[in-house]
Parts: sequence; structure tokens; C-alpha cells
Amino acid sequence: MTNNTSDNSIIIIGAGFAGLGAGIYALMNGYKAEIFEMHDKPGGLCTSWKRKGYTFDGCIHWLVGSNPQSPMNQYWEEVGIAQGSRIIDIDEYMRFEAADGRTLIFYSNVDKLEKELLEFSPSDKEPISEFIDGIRMCLSLEAPSKKVSLPVRIFRYIGLGLSFAINGGKMQKWMKISAAEFSGRFKDPLLRDALKEMWMPEFSIMFMFFTFAYLHKKNAGYPLGGSTPMSEALERRYIKLGGTINYRQRVEKIIVEDNKAVGVRLIDGTEHRAGRVVSAADGFSTIFNMLDGKYADDKIREPYEKWPIFQPLVFAGIGVNRSFADEPLSVSGFSYPLSSPVEIGDRVRNRLWIHIYNHDPSMAPEGKTSIIIMMESRYDYWEKLAENESAYKAKKEEIALILVEQLDKRFPGIASQVEVVDVATPMTFKRYTGNWQGSFEGWLITPANSYVVMKPMSQMLPGLSNFFMCGQWVEPGGGLPTGIMSGRRLVKKLCKEDHRKFRTTIE
Ligand SMILES: Cc1cc2nc3c(=O)[nH]c(=O)nc-3n(C[C@H](O)[C@H](O)[C@H](O)COP(=O)(O)OP(=O)(O)OC[C@H]3O[C@@H](n4cnc5c(N)ncnc54)[C@H](O)[C@@H]3O)c2cc1C
Repeated sequence: MTNNTSDNSIIIIGAGFAGLGAGIYALMNGYKAEIFEMHDKPGGLCTSWKRKGYTFDGCIHWLVGSNPQSPMNQYWEEVGIAQGSRIIDIDEYMRFEAADGRTLIFYSNVDKLEKELLEFSPSDKEPISEFIDGIRMCLSLEAPSKKVSLPVRIFRYIGLGLSFAINGGKMQKWMKISAAEFSGRFKDPLLRDALKEMWMPEFSIMFMFFTFAYLHKKNAGYPLGGSTPMSEALERRYIKLGGTINYRQRVEKIIVEDNKAVGVRLIDGTEHRAGRVVSAADGFSTIFNMLDGKYADDKIREPYEKWPIFQPLVFAGIGVNRSFADEPLSVSGFSYPLSSPVEIGDRVRNRLWIHIYNHDPSMAPEGKTSIIIMMESRYDYWEKLAENESAYKAKKEEIALILVEQLDKRFPGIASQVEVVDVATPMTFKRYTGNWQGSFEGWLITPANSYVVMKPMSQMLPGLSNFFMCGQWVEPGGGLPTGIMSGRRLVKKLCKEDHRKFRTTIE
């Protein structure tokens, strides 16, 4: 479907990373951009909230592309996030504690990680070598930064080409193996469970390799201050480039005339028209509600019917009047076994996954600490519960009590130091961001749909012109860099349609 407009204006639905990213690149290329966002702030899922002086960060753990030498860092510079952000690289990715007192540490540095794993479970030497080789293979699979001189870049591109040629077969093999399947190769039960649970069990193991490779290269750091400052930086850049943004404006329908998107209608009934419409909002509501499913053929429907998503979360923020200065800093926290199984929300749980924010003092008043506990939970369970407001509220309160009780067993005395507990459910994620089933990152890349890595999902719908999508529902694997790259990919396409040279600027 080709461009059907000479109108330079673009309406964008949603001010998450993808929507703001698309807006920024559109403005850089001479388009007029106007965003309609249903919430009252920018960032979408990339957000945090305050309770009684504590900040609970609902997103960022690691930012791929944080290293100024990485090619991806250029995108963070273009959208104004790299400037002014202070990144820390944390030595430990995650810890797993066993009931027998042993602790397994997943280090960010691959050599330290290898040593730790081999010492922890010498009998798993073979699968450990495969795991470590997989990470080392990914270390060589990054394009060179534009910051290096041209001859060095050419030399590195040749190296990259060779690396792909040598490792292509291996990559395909690992893409087809899920974390759950790979973990089955380990004899040690803690190591096995850790590899299965650290990410989603269905996720291709290849992505775990990539994450550890990024961590090793100090290219997946944590931006001090967390999610909100990043979203605000993005909004600043967009506005400075001349973009318009309308908050508390929920789009109900995309207006279509003669199979051409011409604008949006908000829930207050007002209509807004533009040459093109881009939805950077949730994929399901875009396709099946805003467009009534009229432009969804079998290919468009397939993911919504078959692909697994990042399961939604029960997300608890706990503010504690206590310093955890002696606890190790961690990218993702630690998982510990409960003394006996406990029913929390929709299921019985044997472990809790805790993240102490002692790496970011801005998250709590001095001497105090914010703690996050995240648990996967079924959307339908919460959707049903939410039909009865008091039952829903009571369940959240019950979960708060259970979590404090369980934390107190791990950190004796903590119960009396807890000043606030804030429990968000999959319904909260759905209410504030519109994401289908409350998912926090869209589609998983599994062995069954790993072809999307080579053949990206379309940003258009069949039969509908002047309409585009970007964001985590057309970029399996999701994440913040992907959101920005999705907006960038889209504007590049628009420029091509309009015979413009795609250009970017750095402030
Ligand atoms: C707990 C958690 C941890 C995470 N950790 C990381 C991490 O460490 N690193 C990383 O890279 N990523 C992480 N992510 C994932 C990342 O946050 C998301 O993949 C990314 O923010 C998605 O961006 P998006 O713009 O595609 O979608 P969204 O952020 O969902 O943006 C969509 C926007 O559209 C708006 N919208 C929806 N419907 C409408 C409508 N009808 N009208 C108007 N506006 C509408 C929404 O309000 C929202 O602002 C994490 C996410 C969570 C929740």
C-alpha cells in the first residue's frame, strides 16, 4: 500500500517510547506530529510512581545501548536520553538462593560467570560450556559504532560479517531452543530452575545469551533516577522539535474513509484529522477495537490467537525504613525459597523474587529503601476478580500482608520497618497503559515464531492506506530500545514513500 496523501501531518496514538520515538524522528524529517495520549504523563510502561516519599519504578532494569561505544547508543543520543543520564553497570545480574543455604550468582562479566557456574556445579560442565560459549558468540555480533573512524568501522564490519558467517548455523540452532528446554540439560536443580525462571521459560535461549553479552560489555547499564527521567527526556526532545502532545485524550476510533486512515475520534467525540495515522498504542485494541477488526486477515490475527506474551505481573512496591547498604547491588534482584509454599493471588508459590533498590538512592528518602517484588499472574484471574471491587481490593490487601510476612522471614524485623506497600495487578497495567492482557512487553520470541528476527512484522495492515503501527506489538521481544527503533524504522519508511532522505539530528 503506497502513500495516499500530500498532507505532511501525522497523528500518533500513544506517548510511550514508540510513540514519542516516532514523533521525534517524524519531526526531524519535516513532518508535523501530534500525539494523543490517554494518560496524563509520557512514557507508557516506562514509568514510576511515588507513595509516601518512596518511588516505585515500574520498568527499567537495564538499558541496552547504554555504552557510548555501542552503535545503539546513537539512538539514545538522537532522542535525547543519553545526554545527561548517569549510567551504572552492576556486577551481579541476579542471585538464586537454595533451601540448603547455597547461593548461585549470575555475574554480568562472562569470565566471572563461567567460574561461578563451574564451581557451583562441576557436574554440569558440558551445558555450562554451551551457555558460556553462546554468550561469547554474541559478544562478536554487534555492529561497529559510528563514533569510530571509517577505516576502523570497515575493518569491524568485515569482522562482523565473518562472525555471522561462522555463527549463523549456531544462532539458528539456539533460536529454536527455549530456556525451559535448555535448562533441562543441567543436573543441579537450582541451576536448572534458575535458567528456566530467570526469563520466561518459553523464550528462546538466544536472548539470554544476548542479554549477558550486553551486560558483559557494559552495554546494558542502569540509568540512575530510573524510568521517569528517561520518559521526560523523550517528551522534552519531542516538544523542543516542535511536536504537540495532548494528554488525557483517549482515542476511541481511527477514522477511515475509502480504506484510507484520515484521523482519529476521541472518547469525548471530537475528531482530529491528519495525512497519516500511526498507532503506537496496544496492538489488540488498535486492530480489533479502534479499527473494528476490519483490516485483520489471518496473518494479522495469528499472533493474537497463537503467540505467547510476556505474562502480566503482580507488582508490589514496598517502602522500608531501613538501609540495605550491606546487600549486594543487583540488576534484577534475587530469588529465594519460601519456608513453605504460599498461595499468593492466582497460584501457590515456592519462591519470591525481590529487587532491593539499594543501587539507586533517589528511589527513597535517605536511610530508607524501596523494594520491588514481581510475580507473574494470570490476567483472567484478575479480570474476574475486578468485577467485584471490594473483593479485588481485599485481595490486593491480602497480598500486601503476605508479602510483608514472607519478607520478615528473610529479613527479620523488616515487618515493623515497612512504611508503605503498593500492589499493582495486571488490571493496573491494563488501565494505565491499555496493554492487552496487562502484558508488560508484548510478544515473546519463542522457537515457534523466531523467524520474526529475520523477517520483522509488518507495520501496516492489509487494505488500509495511510495507517501504520509501531511499538512492542509489532516488534516481538519488546523493550525500550526496540520502541525507539520501531518509531525510527517507521519514519524511515515514510521518508522512502515520500522520496525524502531520512535524516537524524543530535542535540
Ligand atoms: C516491570 C517492567 C520491567 C521492564 N524492564 C525493562 C527493561 O529493563 N528494559 C527495557 O528495555 N524494557 C523493559 N520493559 C519493557 C518496556 O517498558 C516496554 O517494552 C516499552 O516501554 C513498550 O513501549 P511502547 O511504546 O511500545 O508501549 P507502551 O509503553 O505501552 O505505550 C503505549 C502508550 O499508548 C497509550 N495508549 C494506549 N491506548 C491508547 C488510546 N486508546 N488512546 C490514547 N493513548 C493510548 C498508553 O497510555 C501508553 O502511553 C519493562 C516493562 C515492565 C512493565
